Amino acid sequence: MTKKLFHSDQYQTMCQAIVQSIQDNIVVLDQTVFFAFSGGQESDTGTIGGIEVINATDTSTKDTPGPIEYELNTTPDFIVGDTVTVSIDEKRRQDIMRLHTAVHLVYYFVIERLGDVEIIGSHISQGKGRIDFETEINLNEIREDIQDQLKTYIQQEHDIQTLADESDQNIRWWECEDYKMMCAGTHVQNTKEIGIVKLKRKNLGSGKERIEIIFDEKAIQ
Ligand SMILES: [Zn+2]
Repeated sequence: MTKKLFHSDQYQTMCQAIVQSIQDNIVVLDQTVFFAFSGGQESDTGTIGGIEVINATDTSTKDTPGPIEYELNTTPDFIVGDTVTVSIDEKRRQDIMRLHTAVHLVYYFVIERLGDVEIIGSHISQGKGRIDFETEINLNEIREDIQDQLKTYIQQEHDIQTLADESDQNIRWWECEDYKMMCAGTHVQNTKEIGIVKLKRKNLGSGKERIEIIFDEKAIQ
């Protein structure tokens, strides 16, 4: 098991870790700040012991916790038992936390409008968050309203918490006032940190609709 420091402090971008195992260029650490792809959220980018990480895999399954395996772009010169520095790209992490939080809010705003439409996928990268819904309704009809609602909600500076489940430490919750869902990703602690975002709608065919969330950097703050 790799201790996931990004659960206790989502803003931490560097830590020391002890190398637990090395297999060619795959490394396992005792603890980490480096998020590995999970729940639609992309992995961080960064280095371990100064060597670039090219892939991060969380080997945990739904029922069994497992270590995070980091694939480095070269065989490391450190050995098992060494202490190494883990460092991640801060801007990328922050952008992902902002968009990930916005994705949760948009999900709730959409289902508040449309009733219990099914979510069939979501993905968060540094430049874009997206959610796919199964619905025959053209989401362009509500896109602008949802965007306005999101903007207002962001400006209202709502606090956000992420916590472990009381009965199962492997389950984590994201909570923003009345909104609460299971999620083990990384998020900002207050909606104001999301900043100005805009929504786009795409039809994916056969009753599938996508909402994309992107930063609106040109907007006047
Ligand atoms: Zn989340």
